[in-house]
Amino acid sequence: MAETNLAGGAAALPDKKPRRRKATILGSTGSIGVNTLDLIEFARGKGEADIEIVALTANRNLETLVEQAKKFRPALAVIGDASLGDDLKSALSGTGIETAAGPEAIEDAAMRDADWVMAAIVGAAGLQPTLKAAQRGADIALANKECLVCAGDVVTAAIRKAGGRLLPVDSEHNAIFQVYDFERPERISRLILTASGGPFRTWTADEMAVATPDQAVAHPNWSMGAKISVDSATLMNKGLELIEASHIFPTPHDRIEILVHPQSVIHSMVEYVDGSVLAQLGTPDMRTPIATTLAWPDRTPSPSAKLNFAEVATLTFEAPDIKRFPALRLTREAIAAGGVMPATLNAANEIAVAAFLNGQVKFLDIDAITEQVLESVSRVNAPARLTALEDAVAADAEARRLAEEFVAARAAA
Ligand code: NAD
Ligand code: MG
Repeated sequence: MAETNLAGGAAALPDKKPRRRKATILGSTGSIGVNTLDLIEFARGKGEADIEIVALTANRNLETLVEQAKKFRPALAVIGDASLGDDLKSALSGTGIETAAGPEAIEDAAMRDADWVMAAIVGAAGLQPTLKAAQRGADIALANKECLVCAGDVVTAAIRKAGGRLLPVDSEHNAIFQVYDFERPERISRLILTASGGPFRTWTADEMAVATPDQAVAHPNWSMGAKISVDSATLMNKGLELIEASHIFPTPHDRIEILVHPQSVIHSMVEYVDGSVLAQLGTPDMRTPIATTLAWPDRTPSPSAKLNFAEVATLTFEAPDIKRFPALRLTREAIAAGGVMPATLNAANEIAVAAFLNGQVKFLDIDAITEQVLESVSRVNAPARLTALEDAVAADAEARRLAEEFVAARAAA
């Protein structure tokens, strides 16, 4: 007798066959990349997934890439730094793994036939490879928020046109994705993006003025790469996530709010017009959202710890302090201006964060430099609607040039 799935009755048994996927991981040696491979190994061990790795890519971390390639046996391993190409080739000689080097080789890797691509390169460098994977219709597990900030209209249009799915990895967007009614977006009154508040949530402006890179990357709840950790300390990360959310969900940006929630248990919320608020909760472990994107709309087990509510005991919330964290104002302004302004903001911030991590500028200079770049650009160019990738790329380059100038001026002062 055929199984039925009547409301209130027993659901059909899940298909027990392991999930087959061909996966590529762009940025496999970073924090998200390592978590992704860890999850894939776990899913294989549980008999949940039969995943063939098509390509792994890294920028300069040769040692980790070689180790990963030997273990996961991709068809192709790519190193972005062309000067390391020969070393990669000799380290993997005799393994049958093809190797390549240079930024274009990373784009070529994205064009190979994986049906699931983890976009986990940090910064605007992830834009072109992610776009290449999107254009051939792969499902994009998107961690690289900067590529949506920089050229969200172009990237989302490419995904839609080629028929792949955008599966958000960023924990807030992953949370919203799980509870968002895409069939009735007009019934959603508000998105609430939660923020841990970062390591300087309770610091005074004077203390923040002398914060060191080590203090800035010491995130209270999440273990992440250096750049996003600094972005979490300035709250620029939340600003970038606001822009990211406005591209993923059809809810206007002025109905997306930011709420500080120091425990990072609620990963974000959706409020409906009837007053219902739906949230997704979990421990702060990126393997949970990565698992969601790997299996969606099914589920797959993850090694992440499960929530112990009695141990968590208390959840608290507070409004963000826009005075101490001007990044939130800057991102609202950039998103309202539209056009190339988000790309400009993103590039300026990348340069300023790198300069802070190198010890060239102080912590509060990060937002000051970003604001200086935004002001210079808005004086010169009237913002237009972003329709072409070239406009985003040009704005990105110009913002980097200006930001480098402002960094040099501060470093010399
Ligand atoms: P990371 O610095 O740990 O890793 C970055 C990866 O990108 C590495 O594999 C590196 O080799 C590669 N890479 C760096 N520069 C490159 C370049 N110019 N060309 C090619 N490859 C390059 O960063 P991460 O913390 O894993 O973050 C990756 C992305 O995911 C970022 O966009 C970040 O905002 C986003 N994200 C991260 C987390 C997290 O928990 N780490 C959470 C949400 C979103
Ligand atoms: Mg996030």
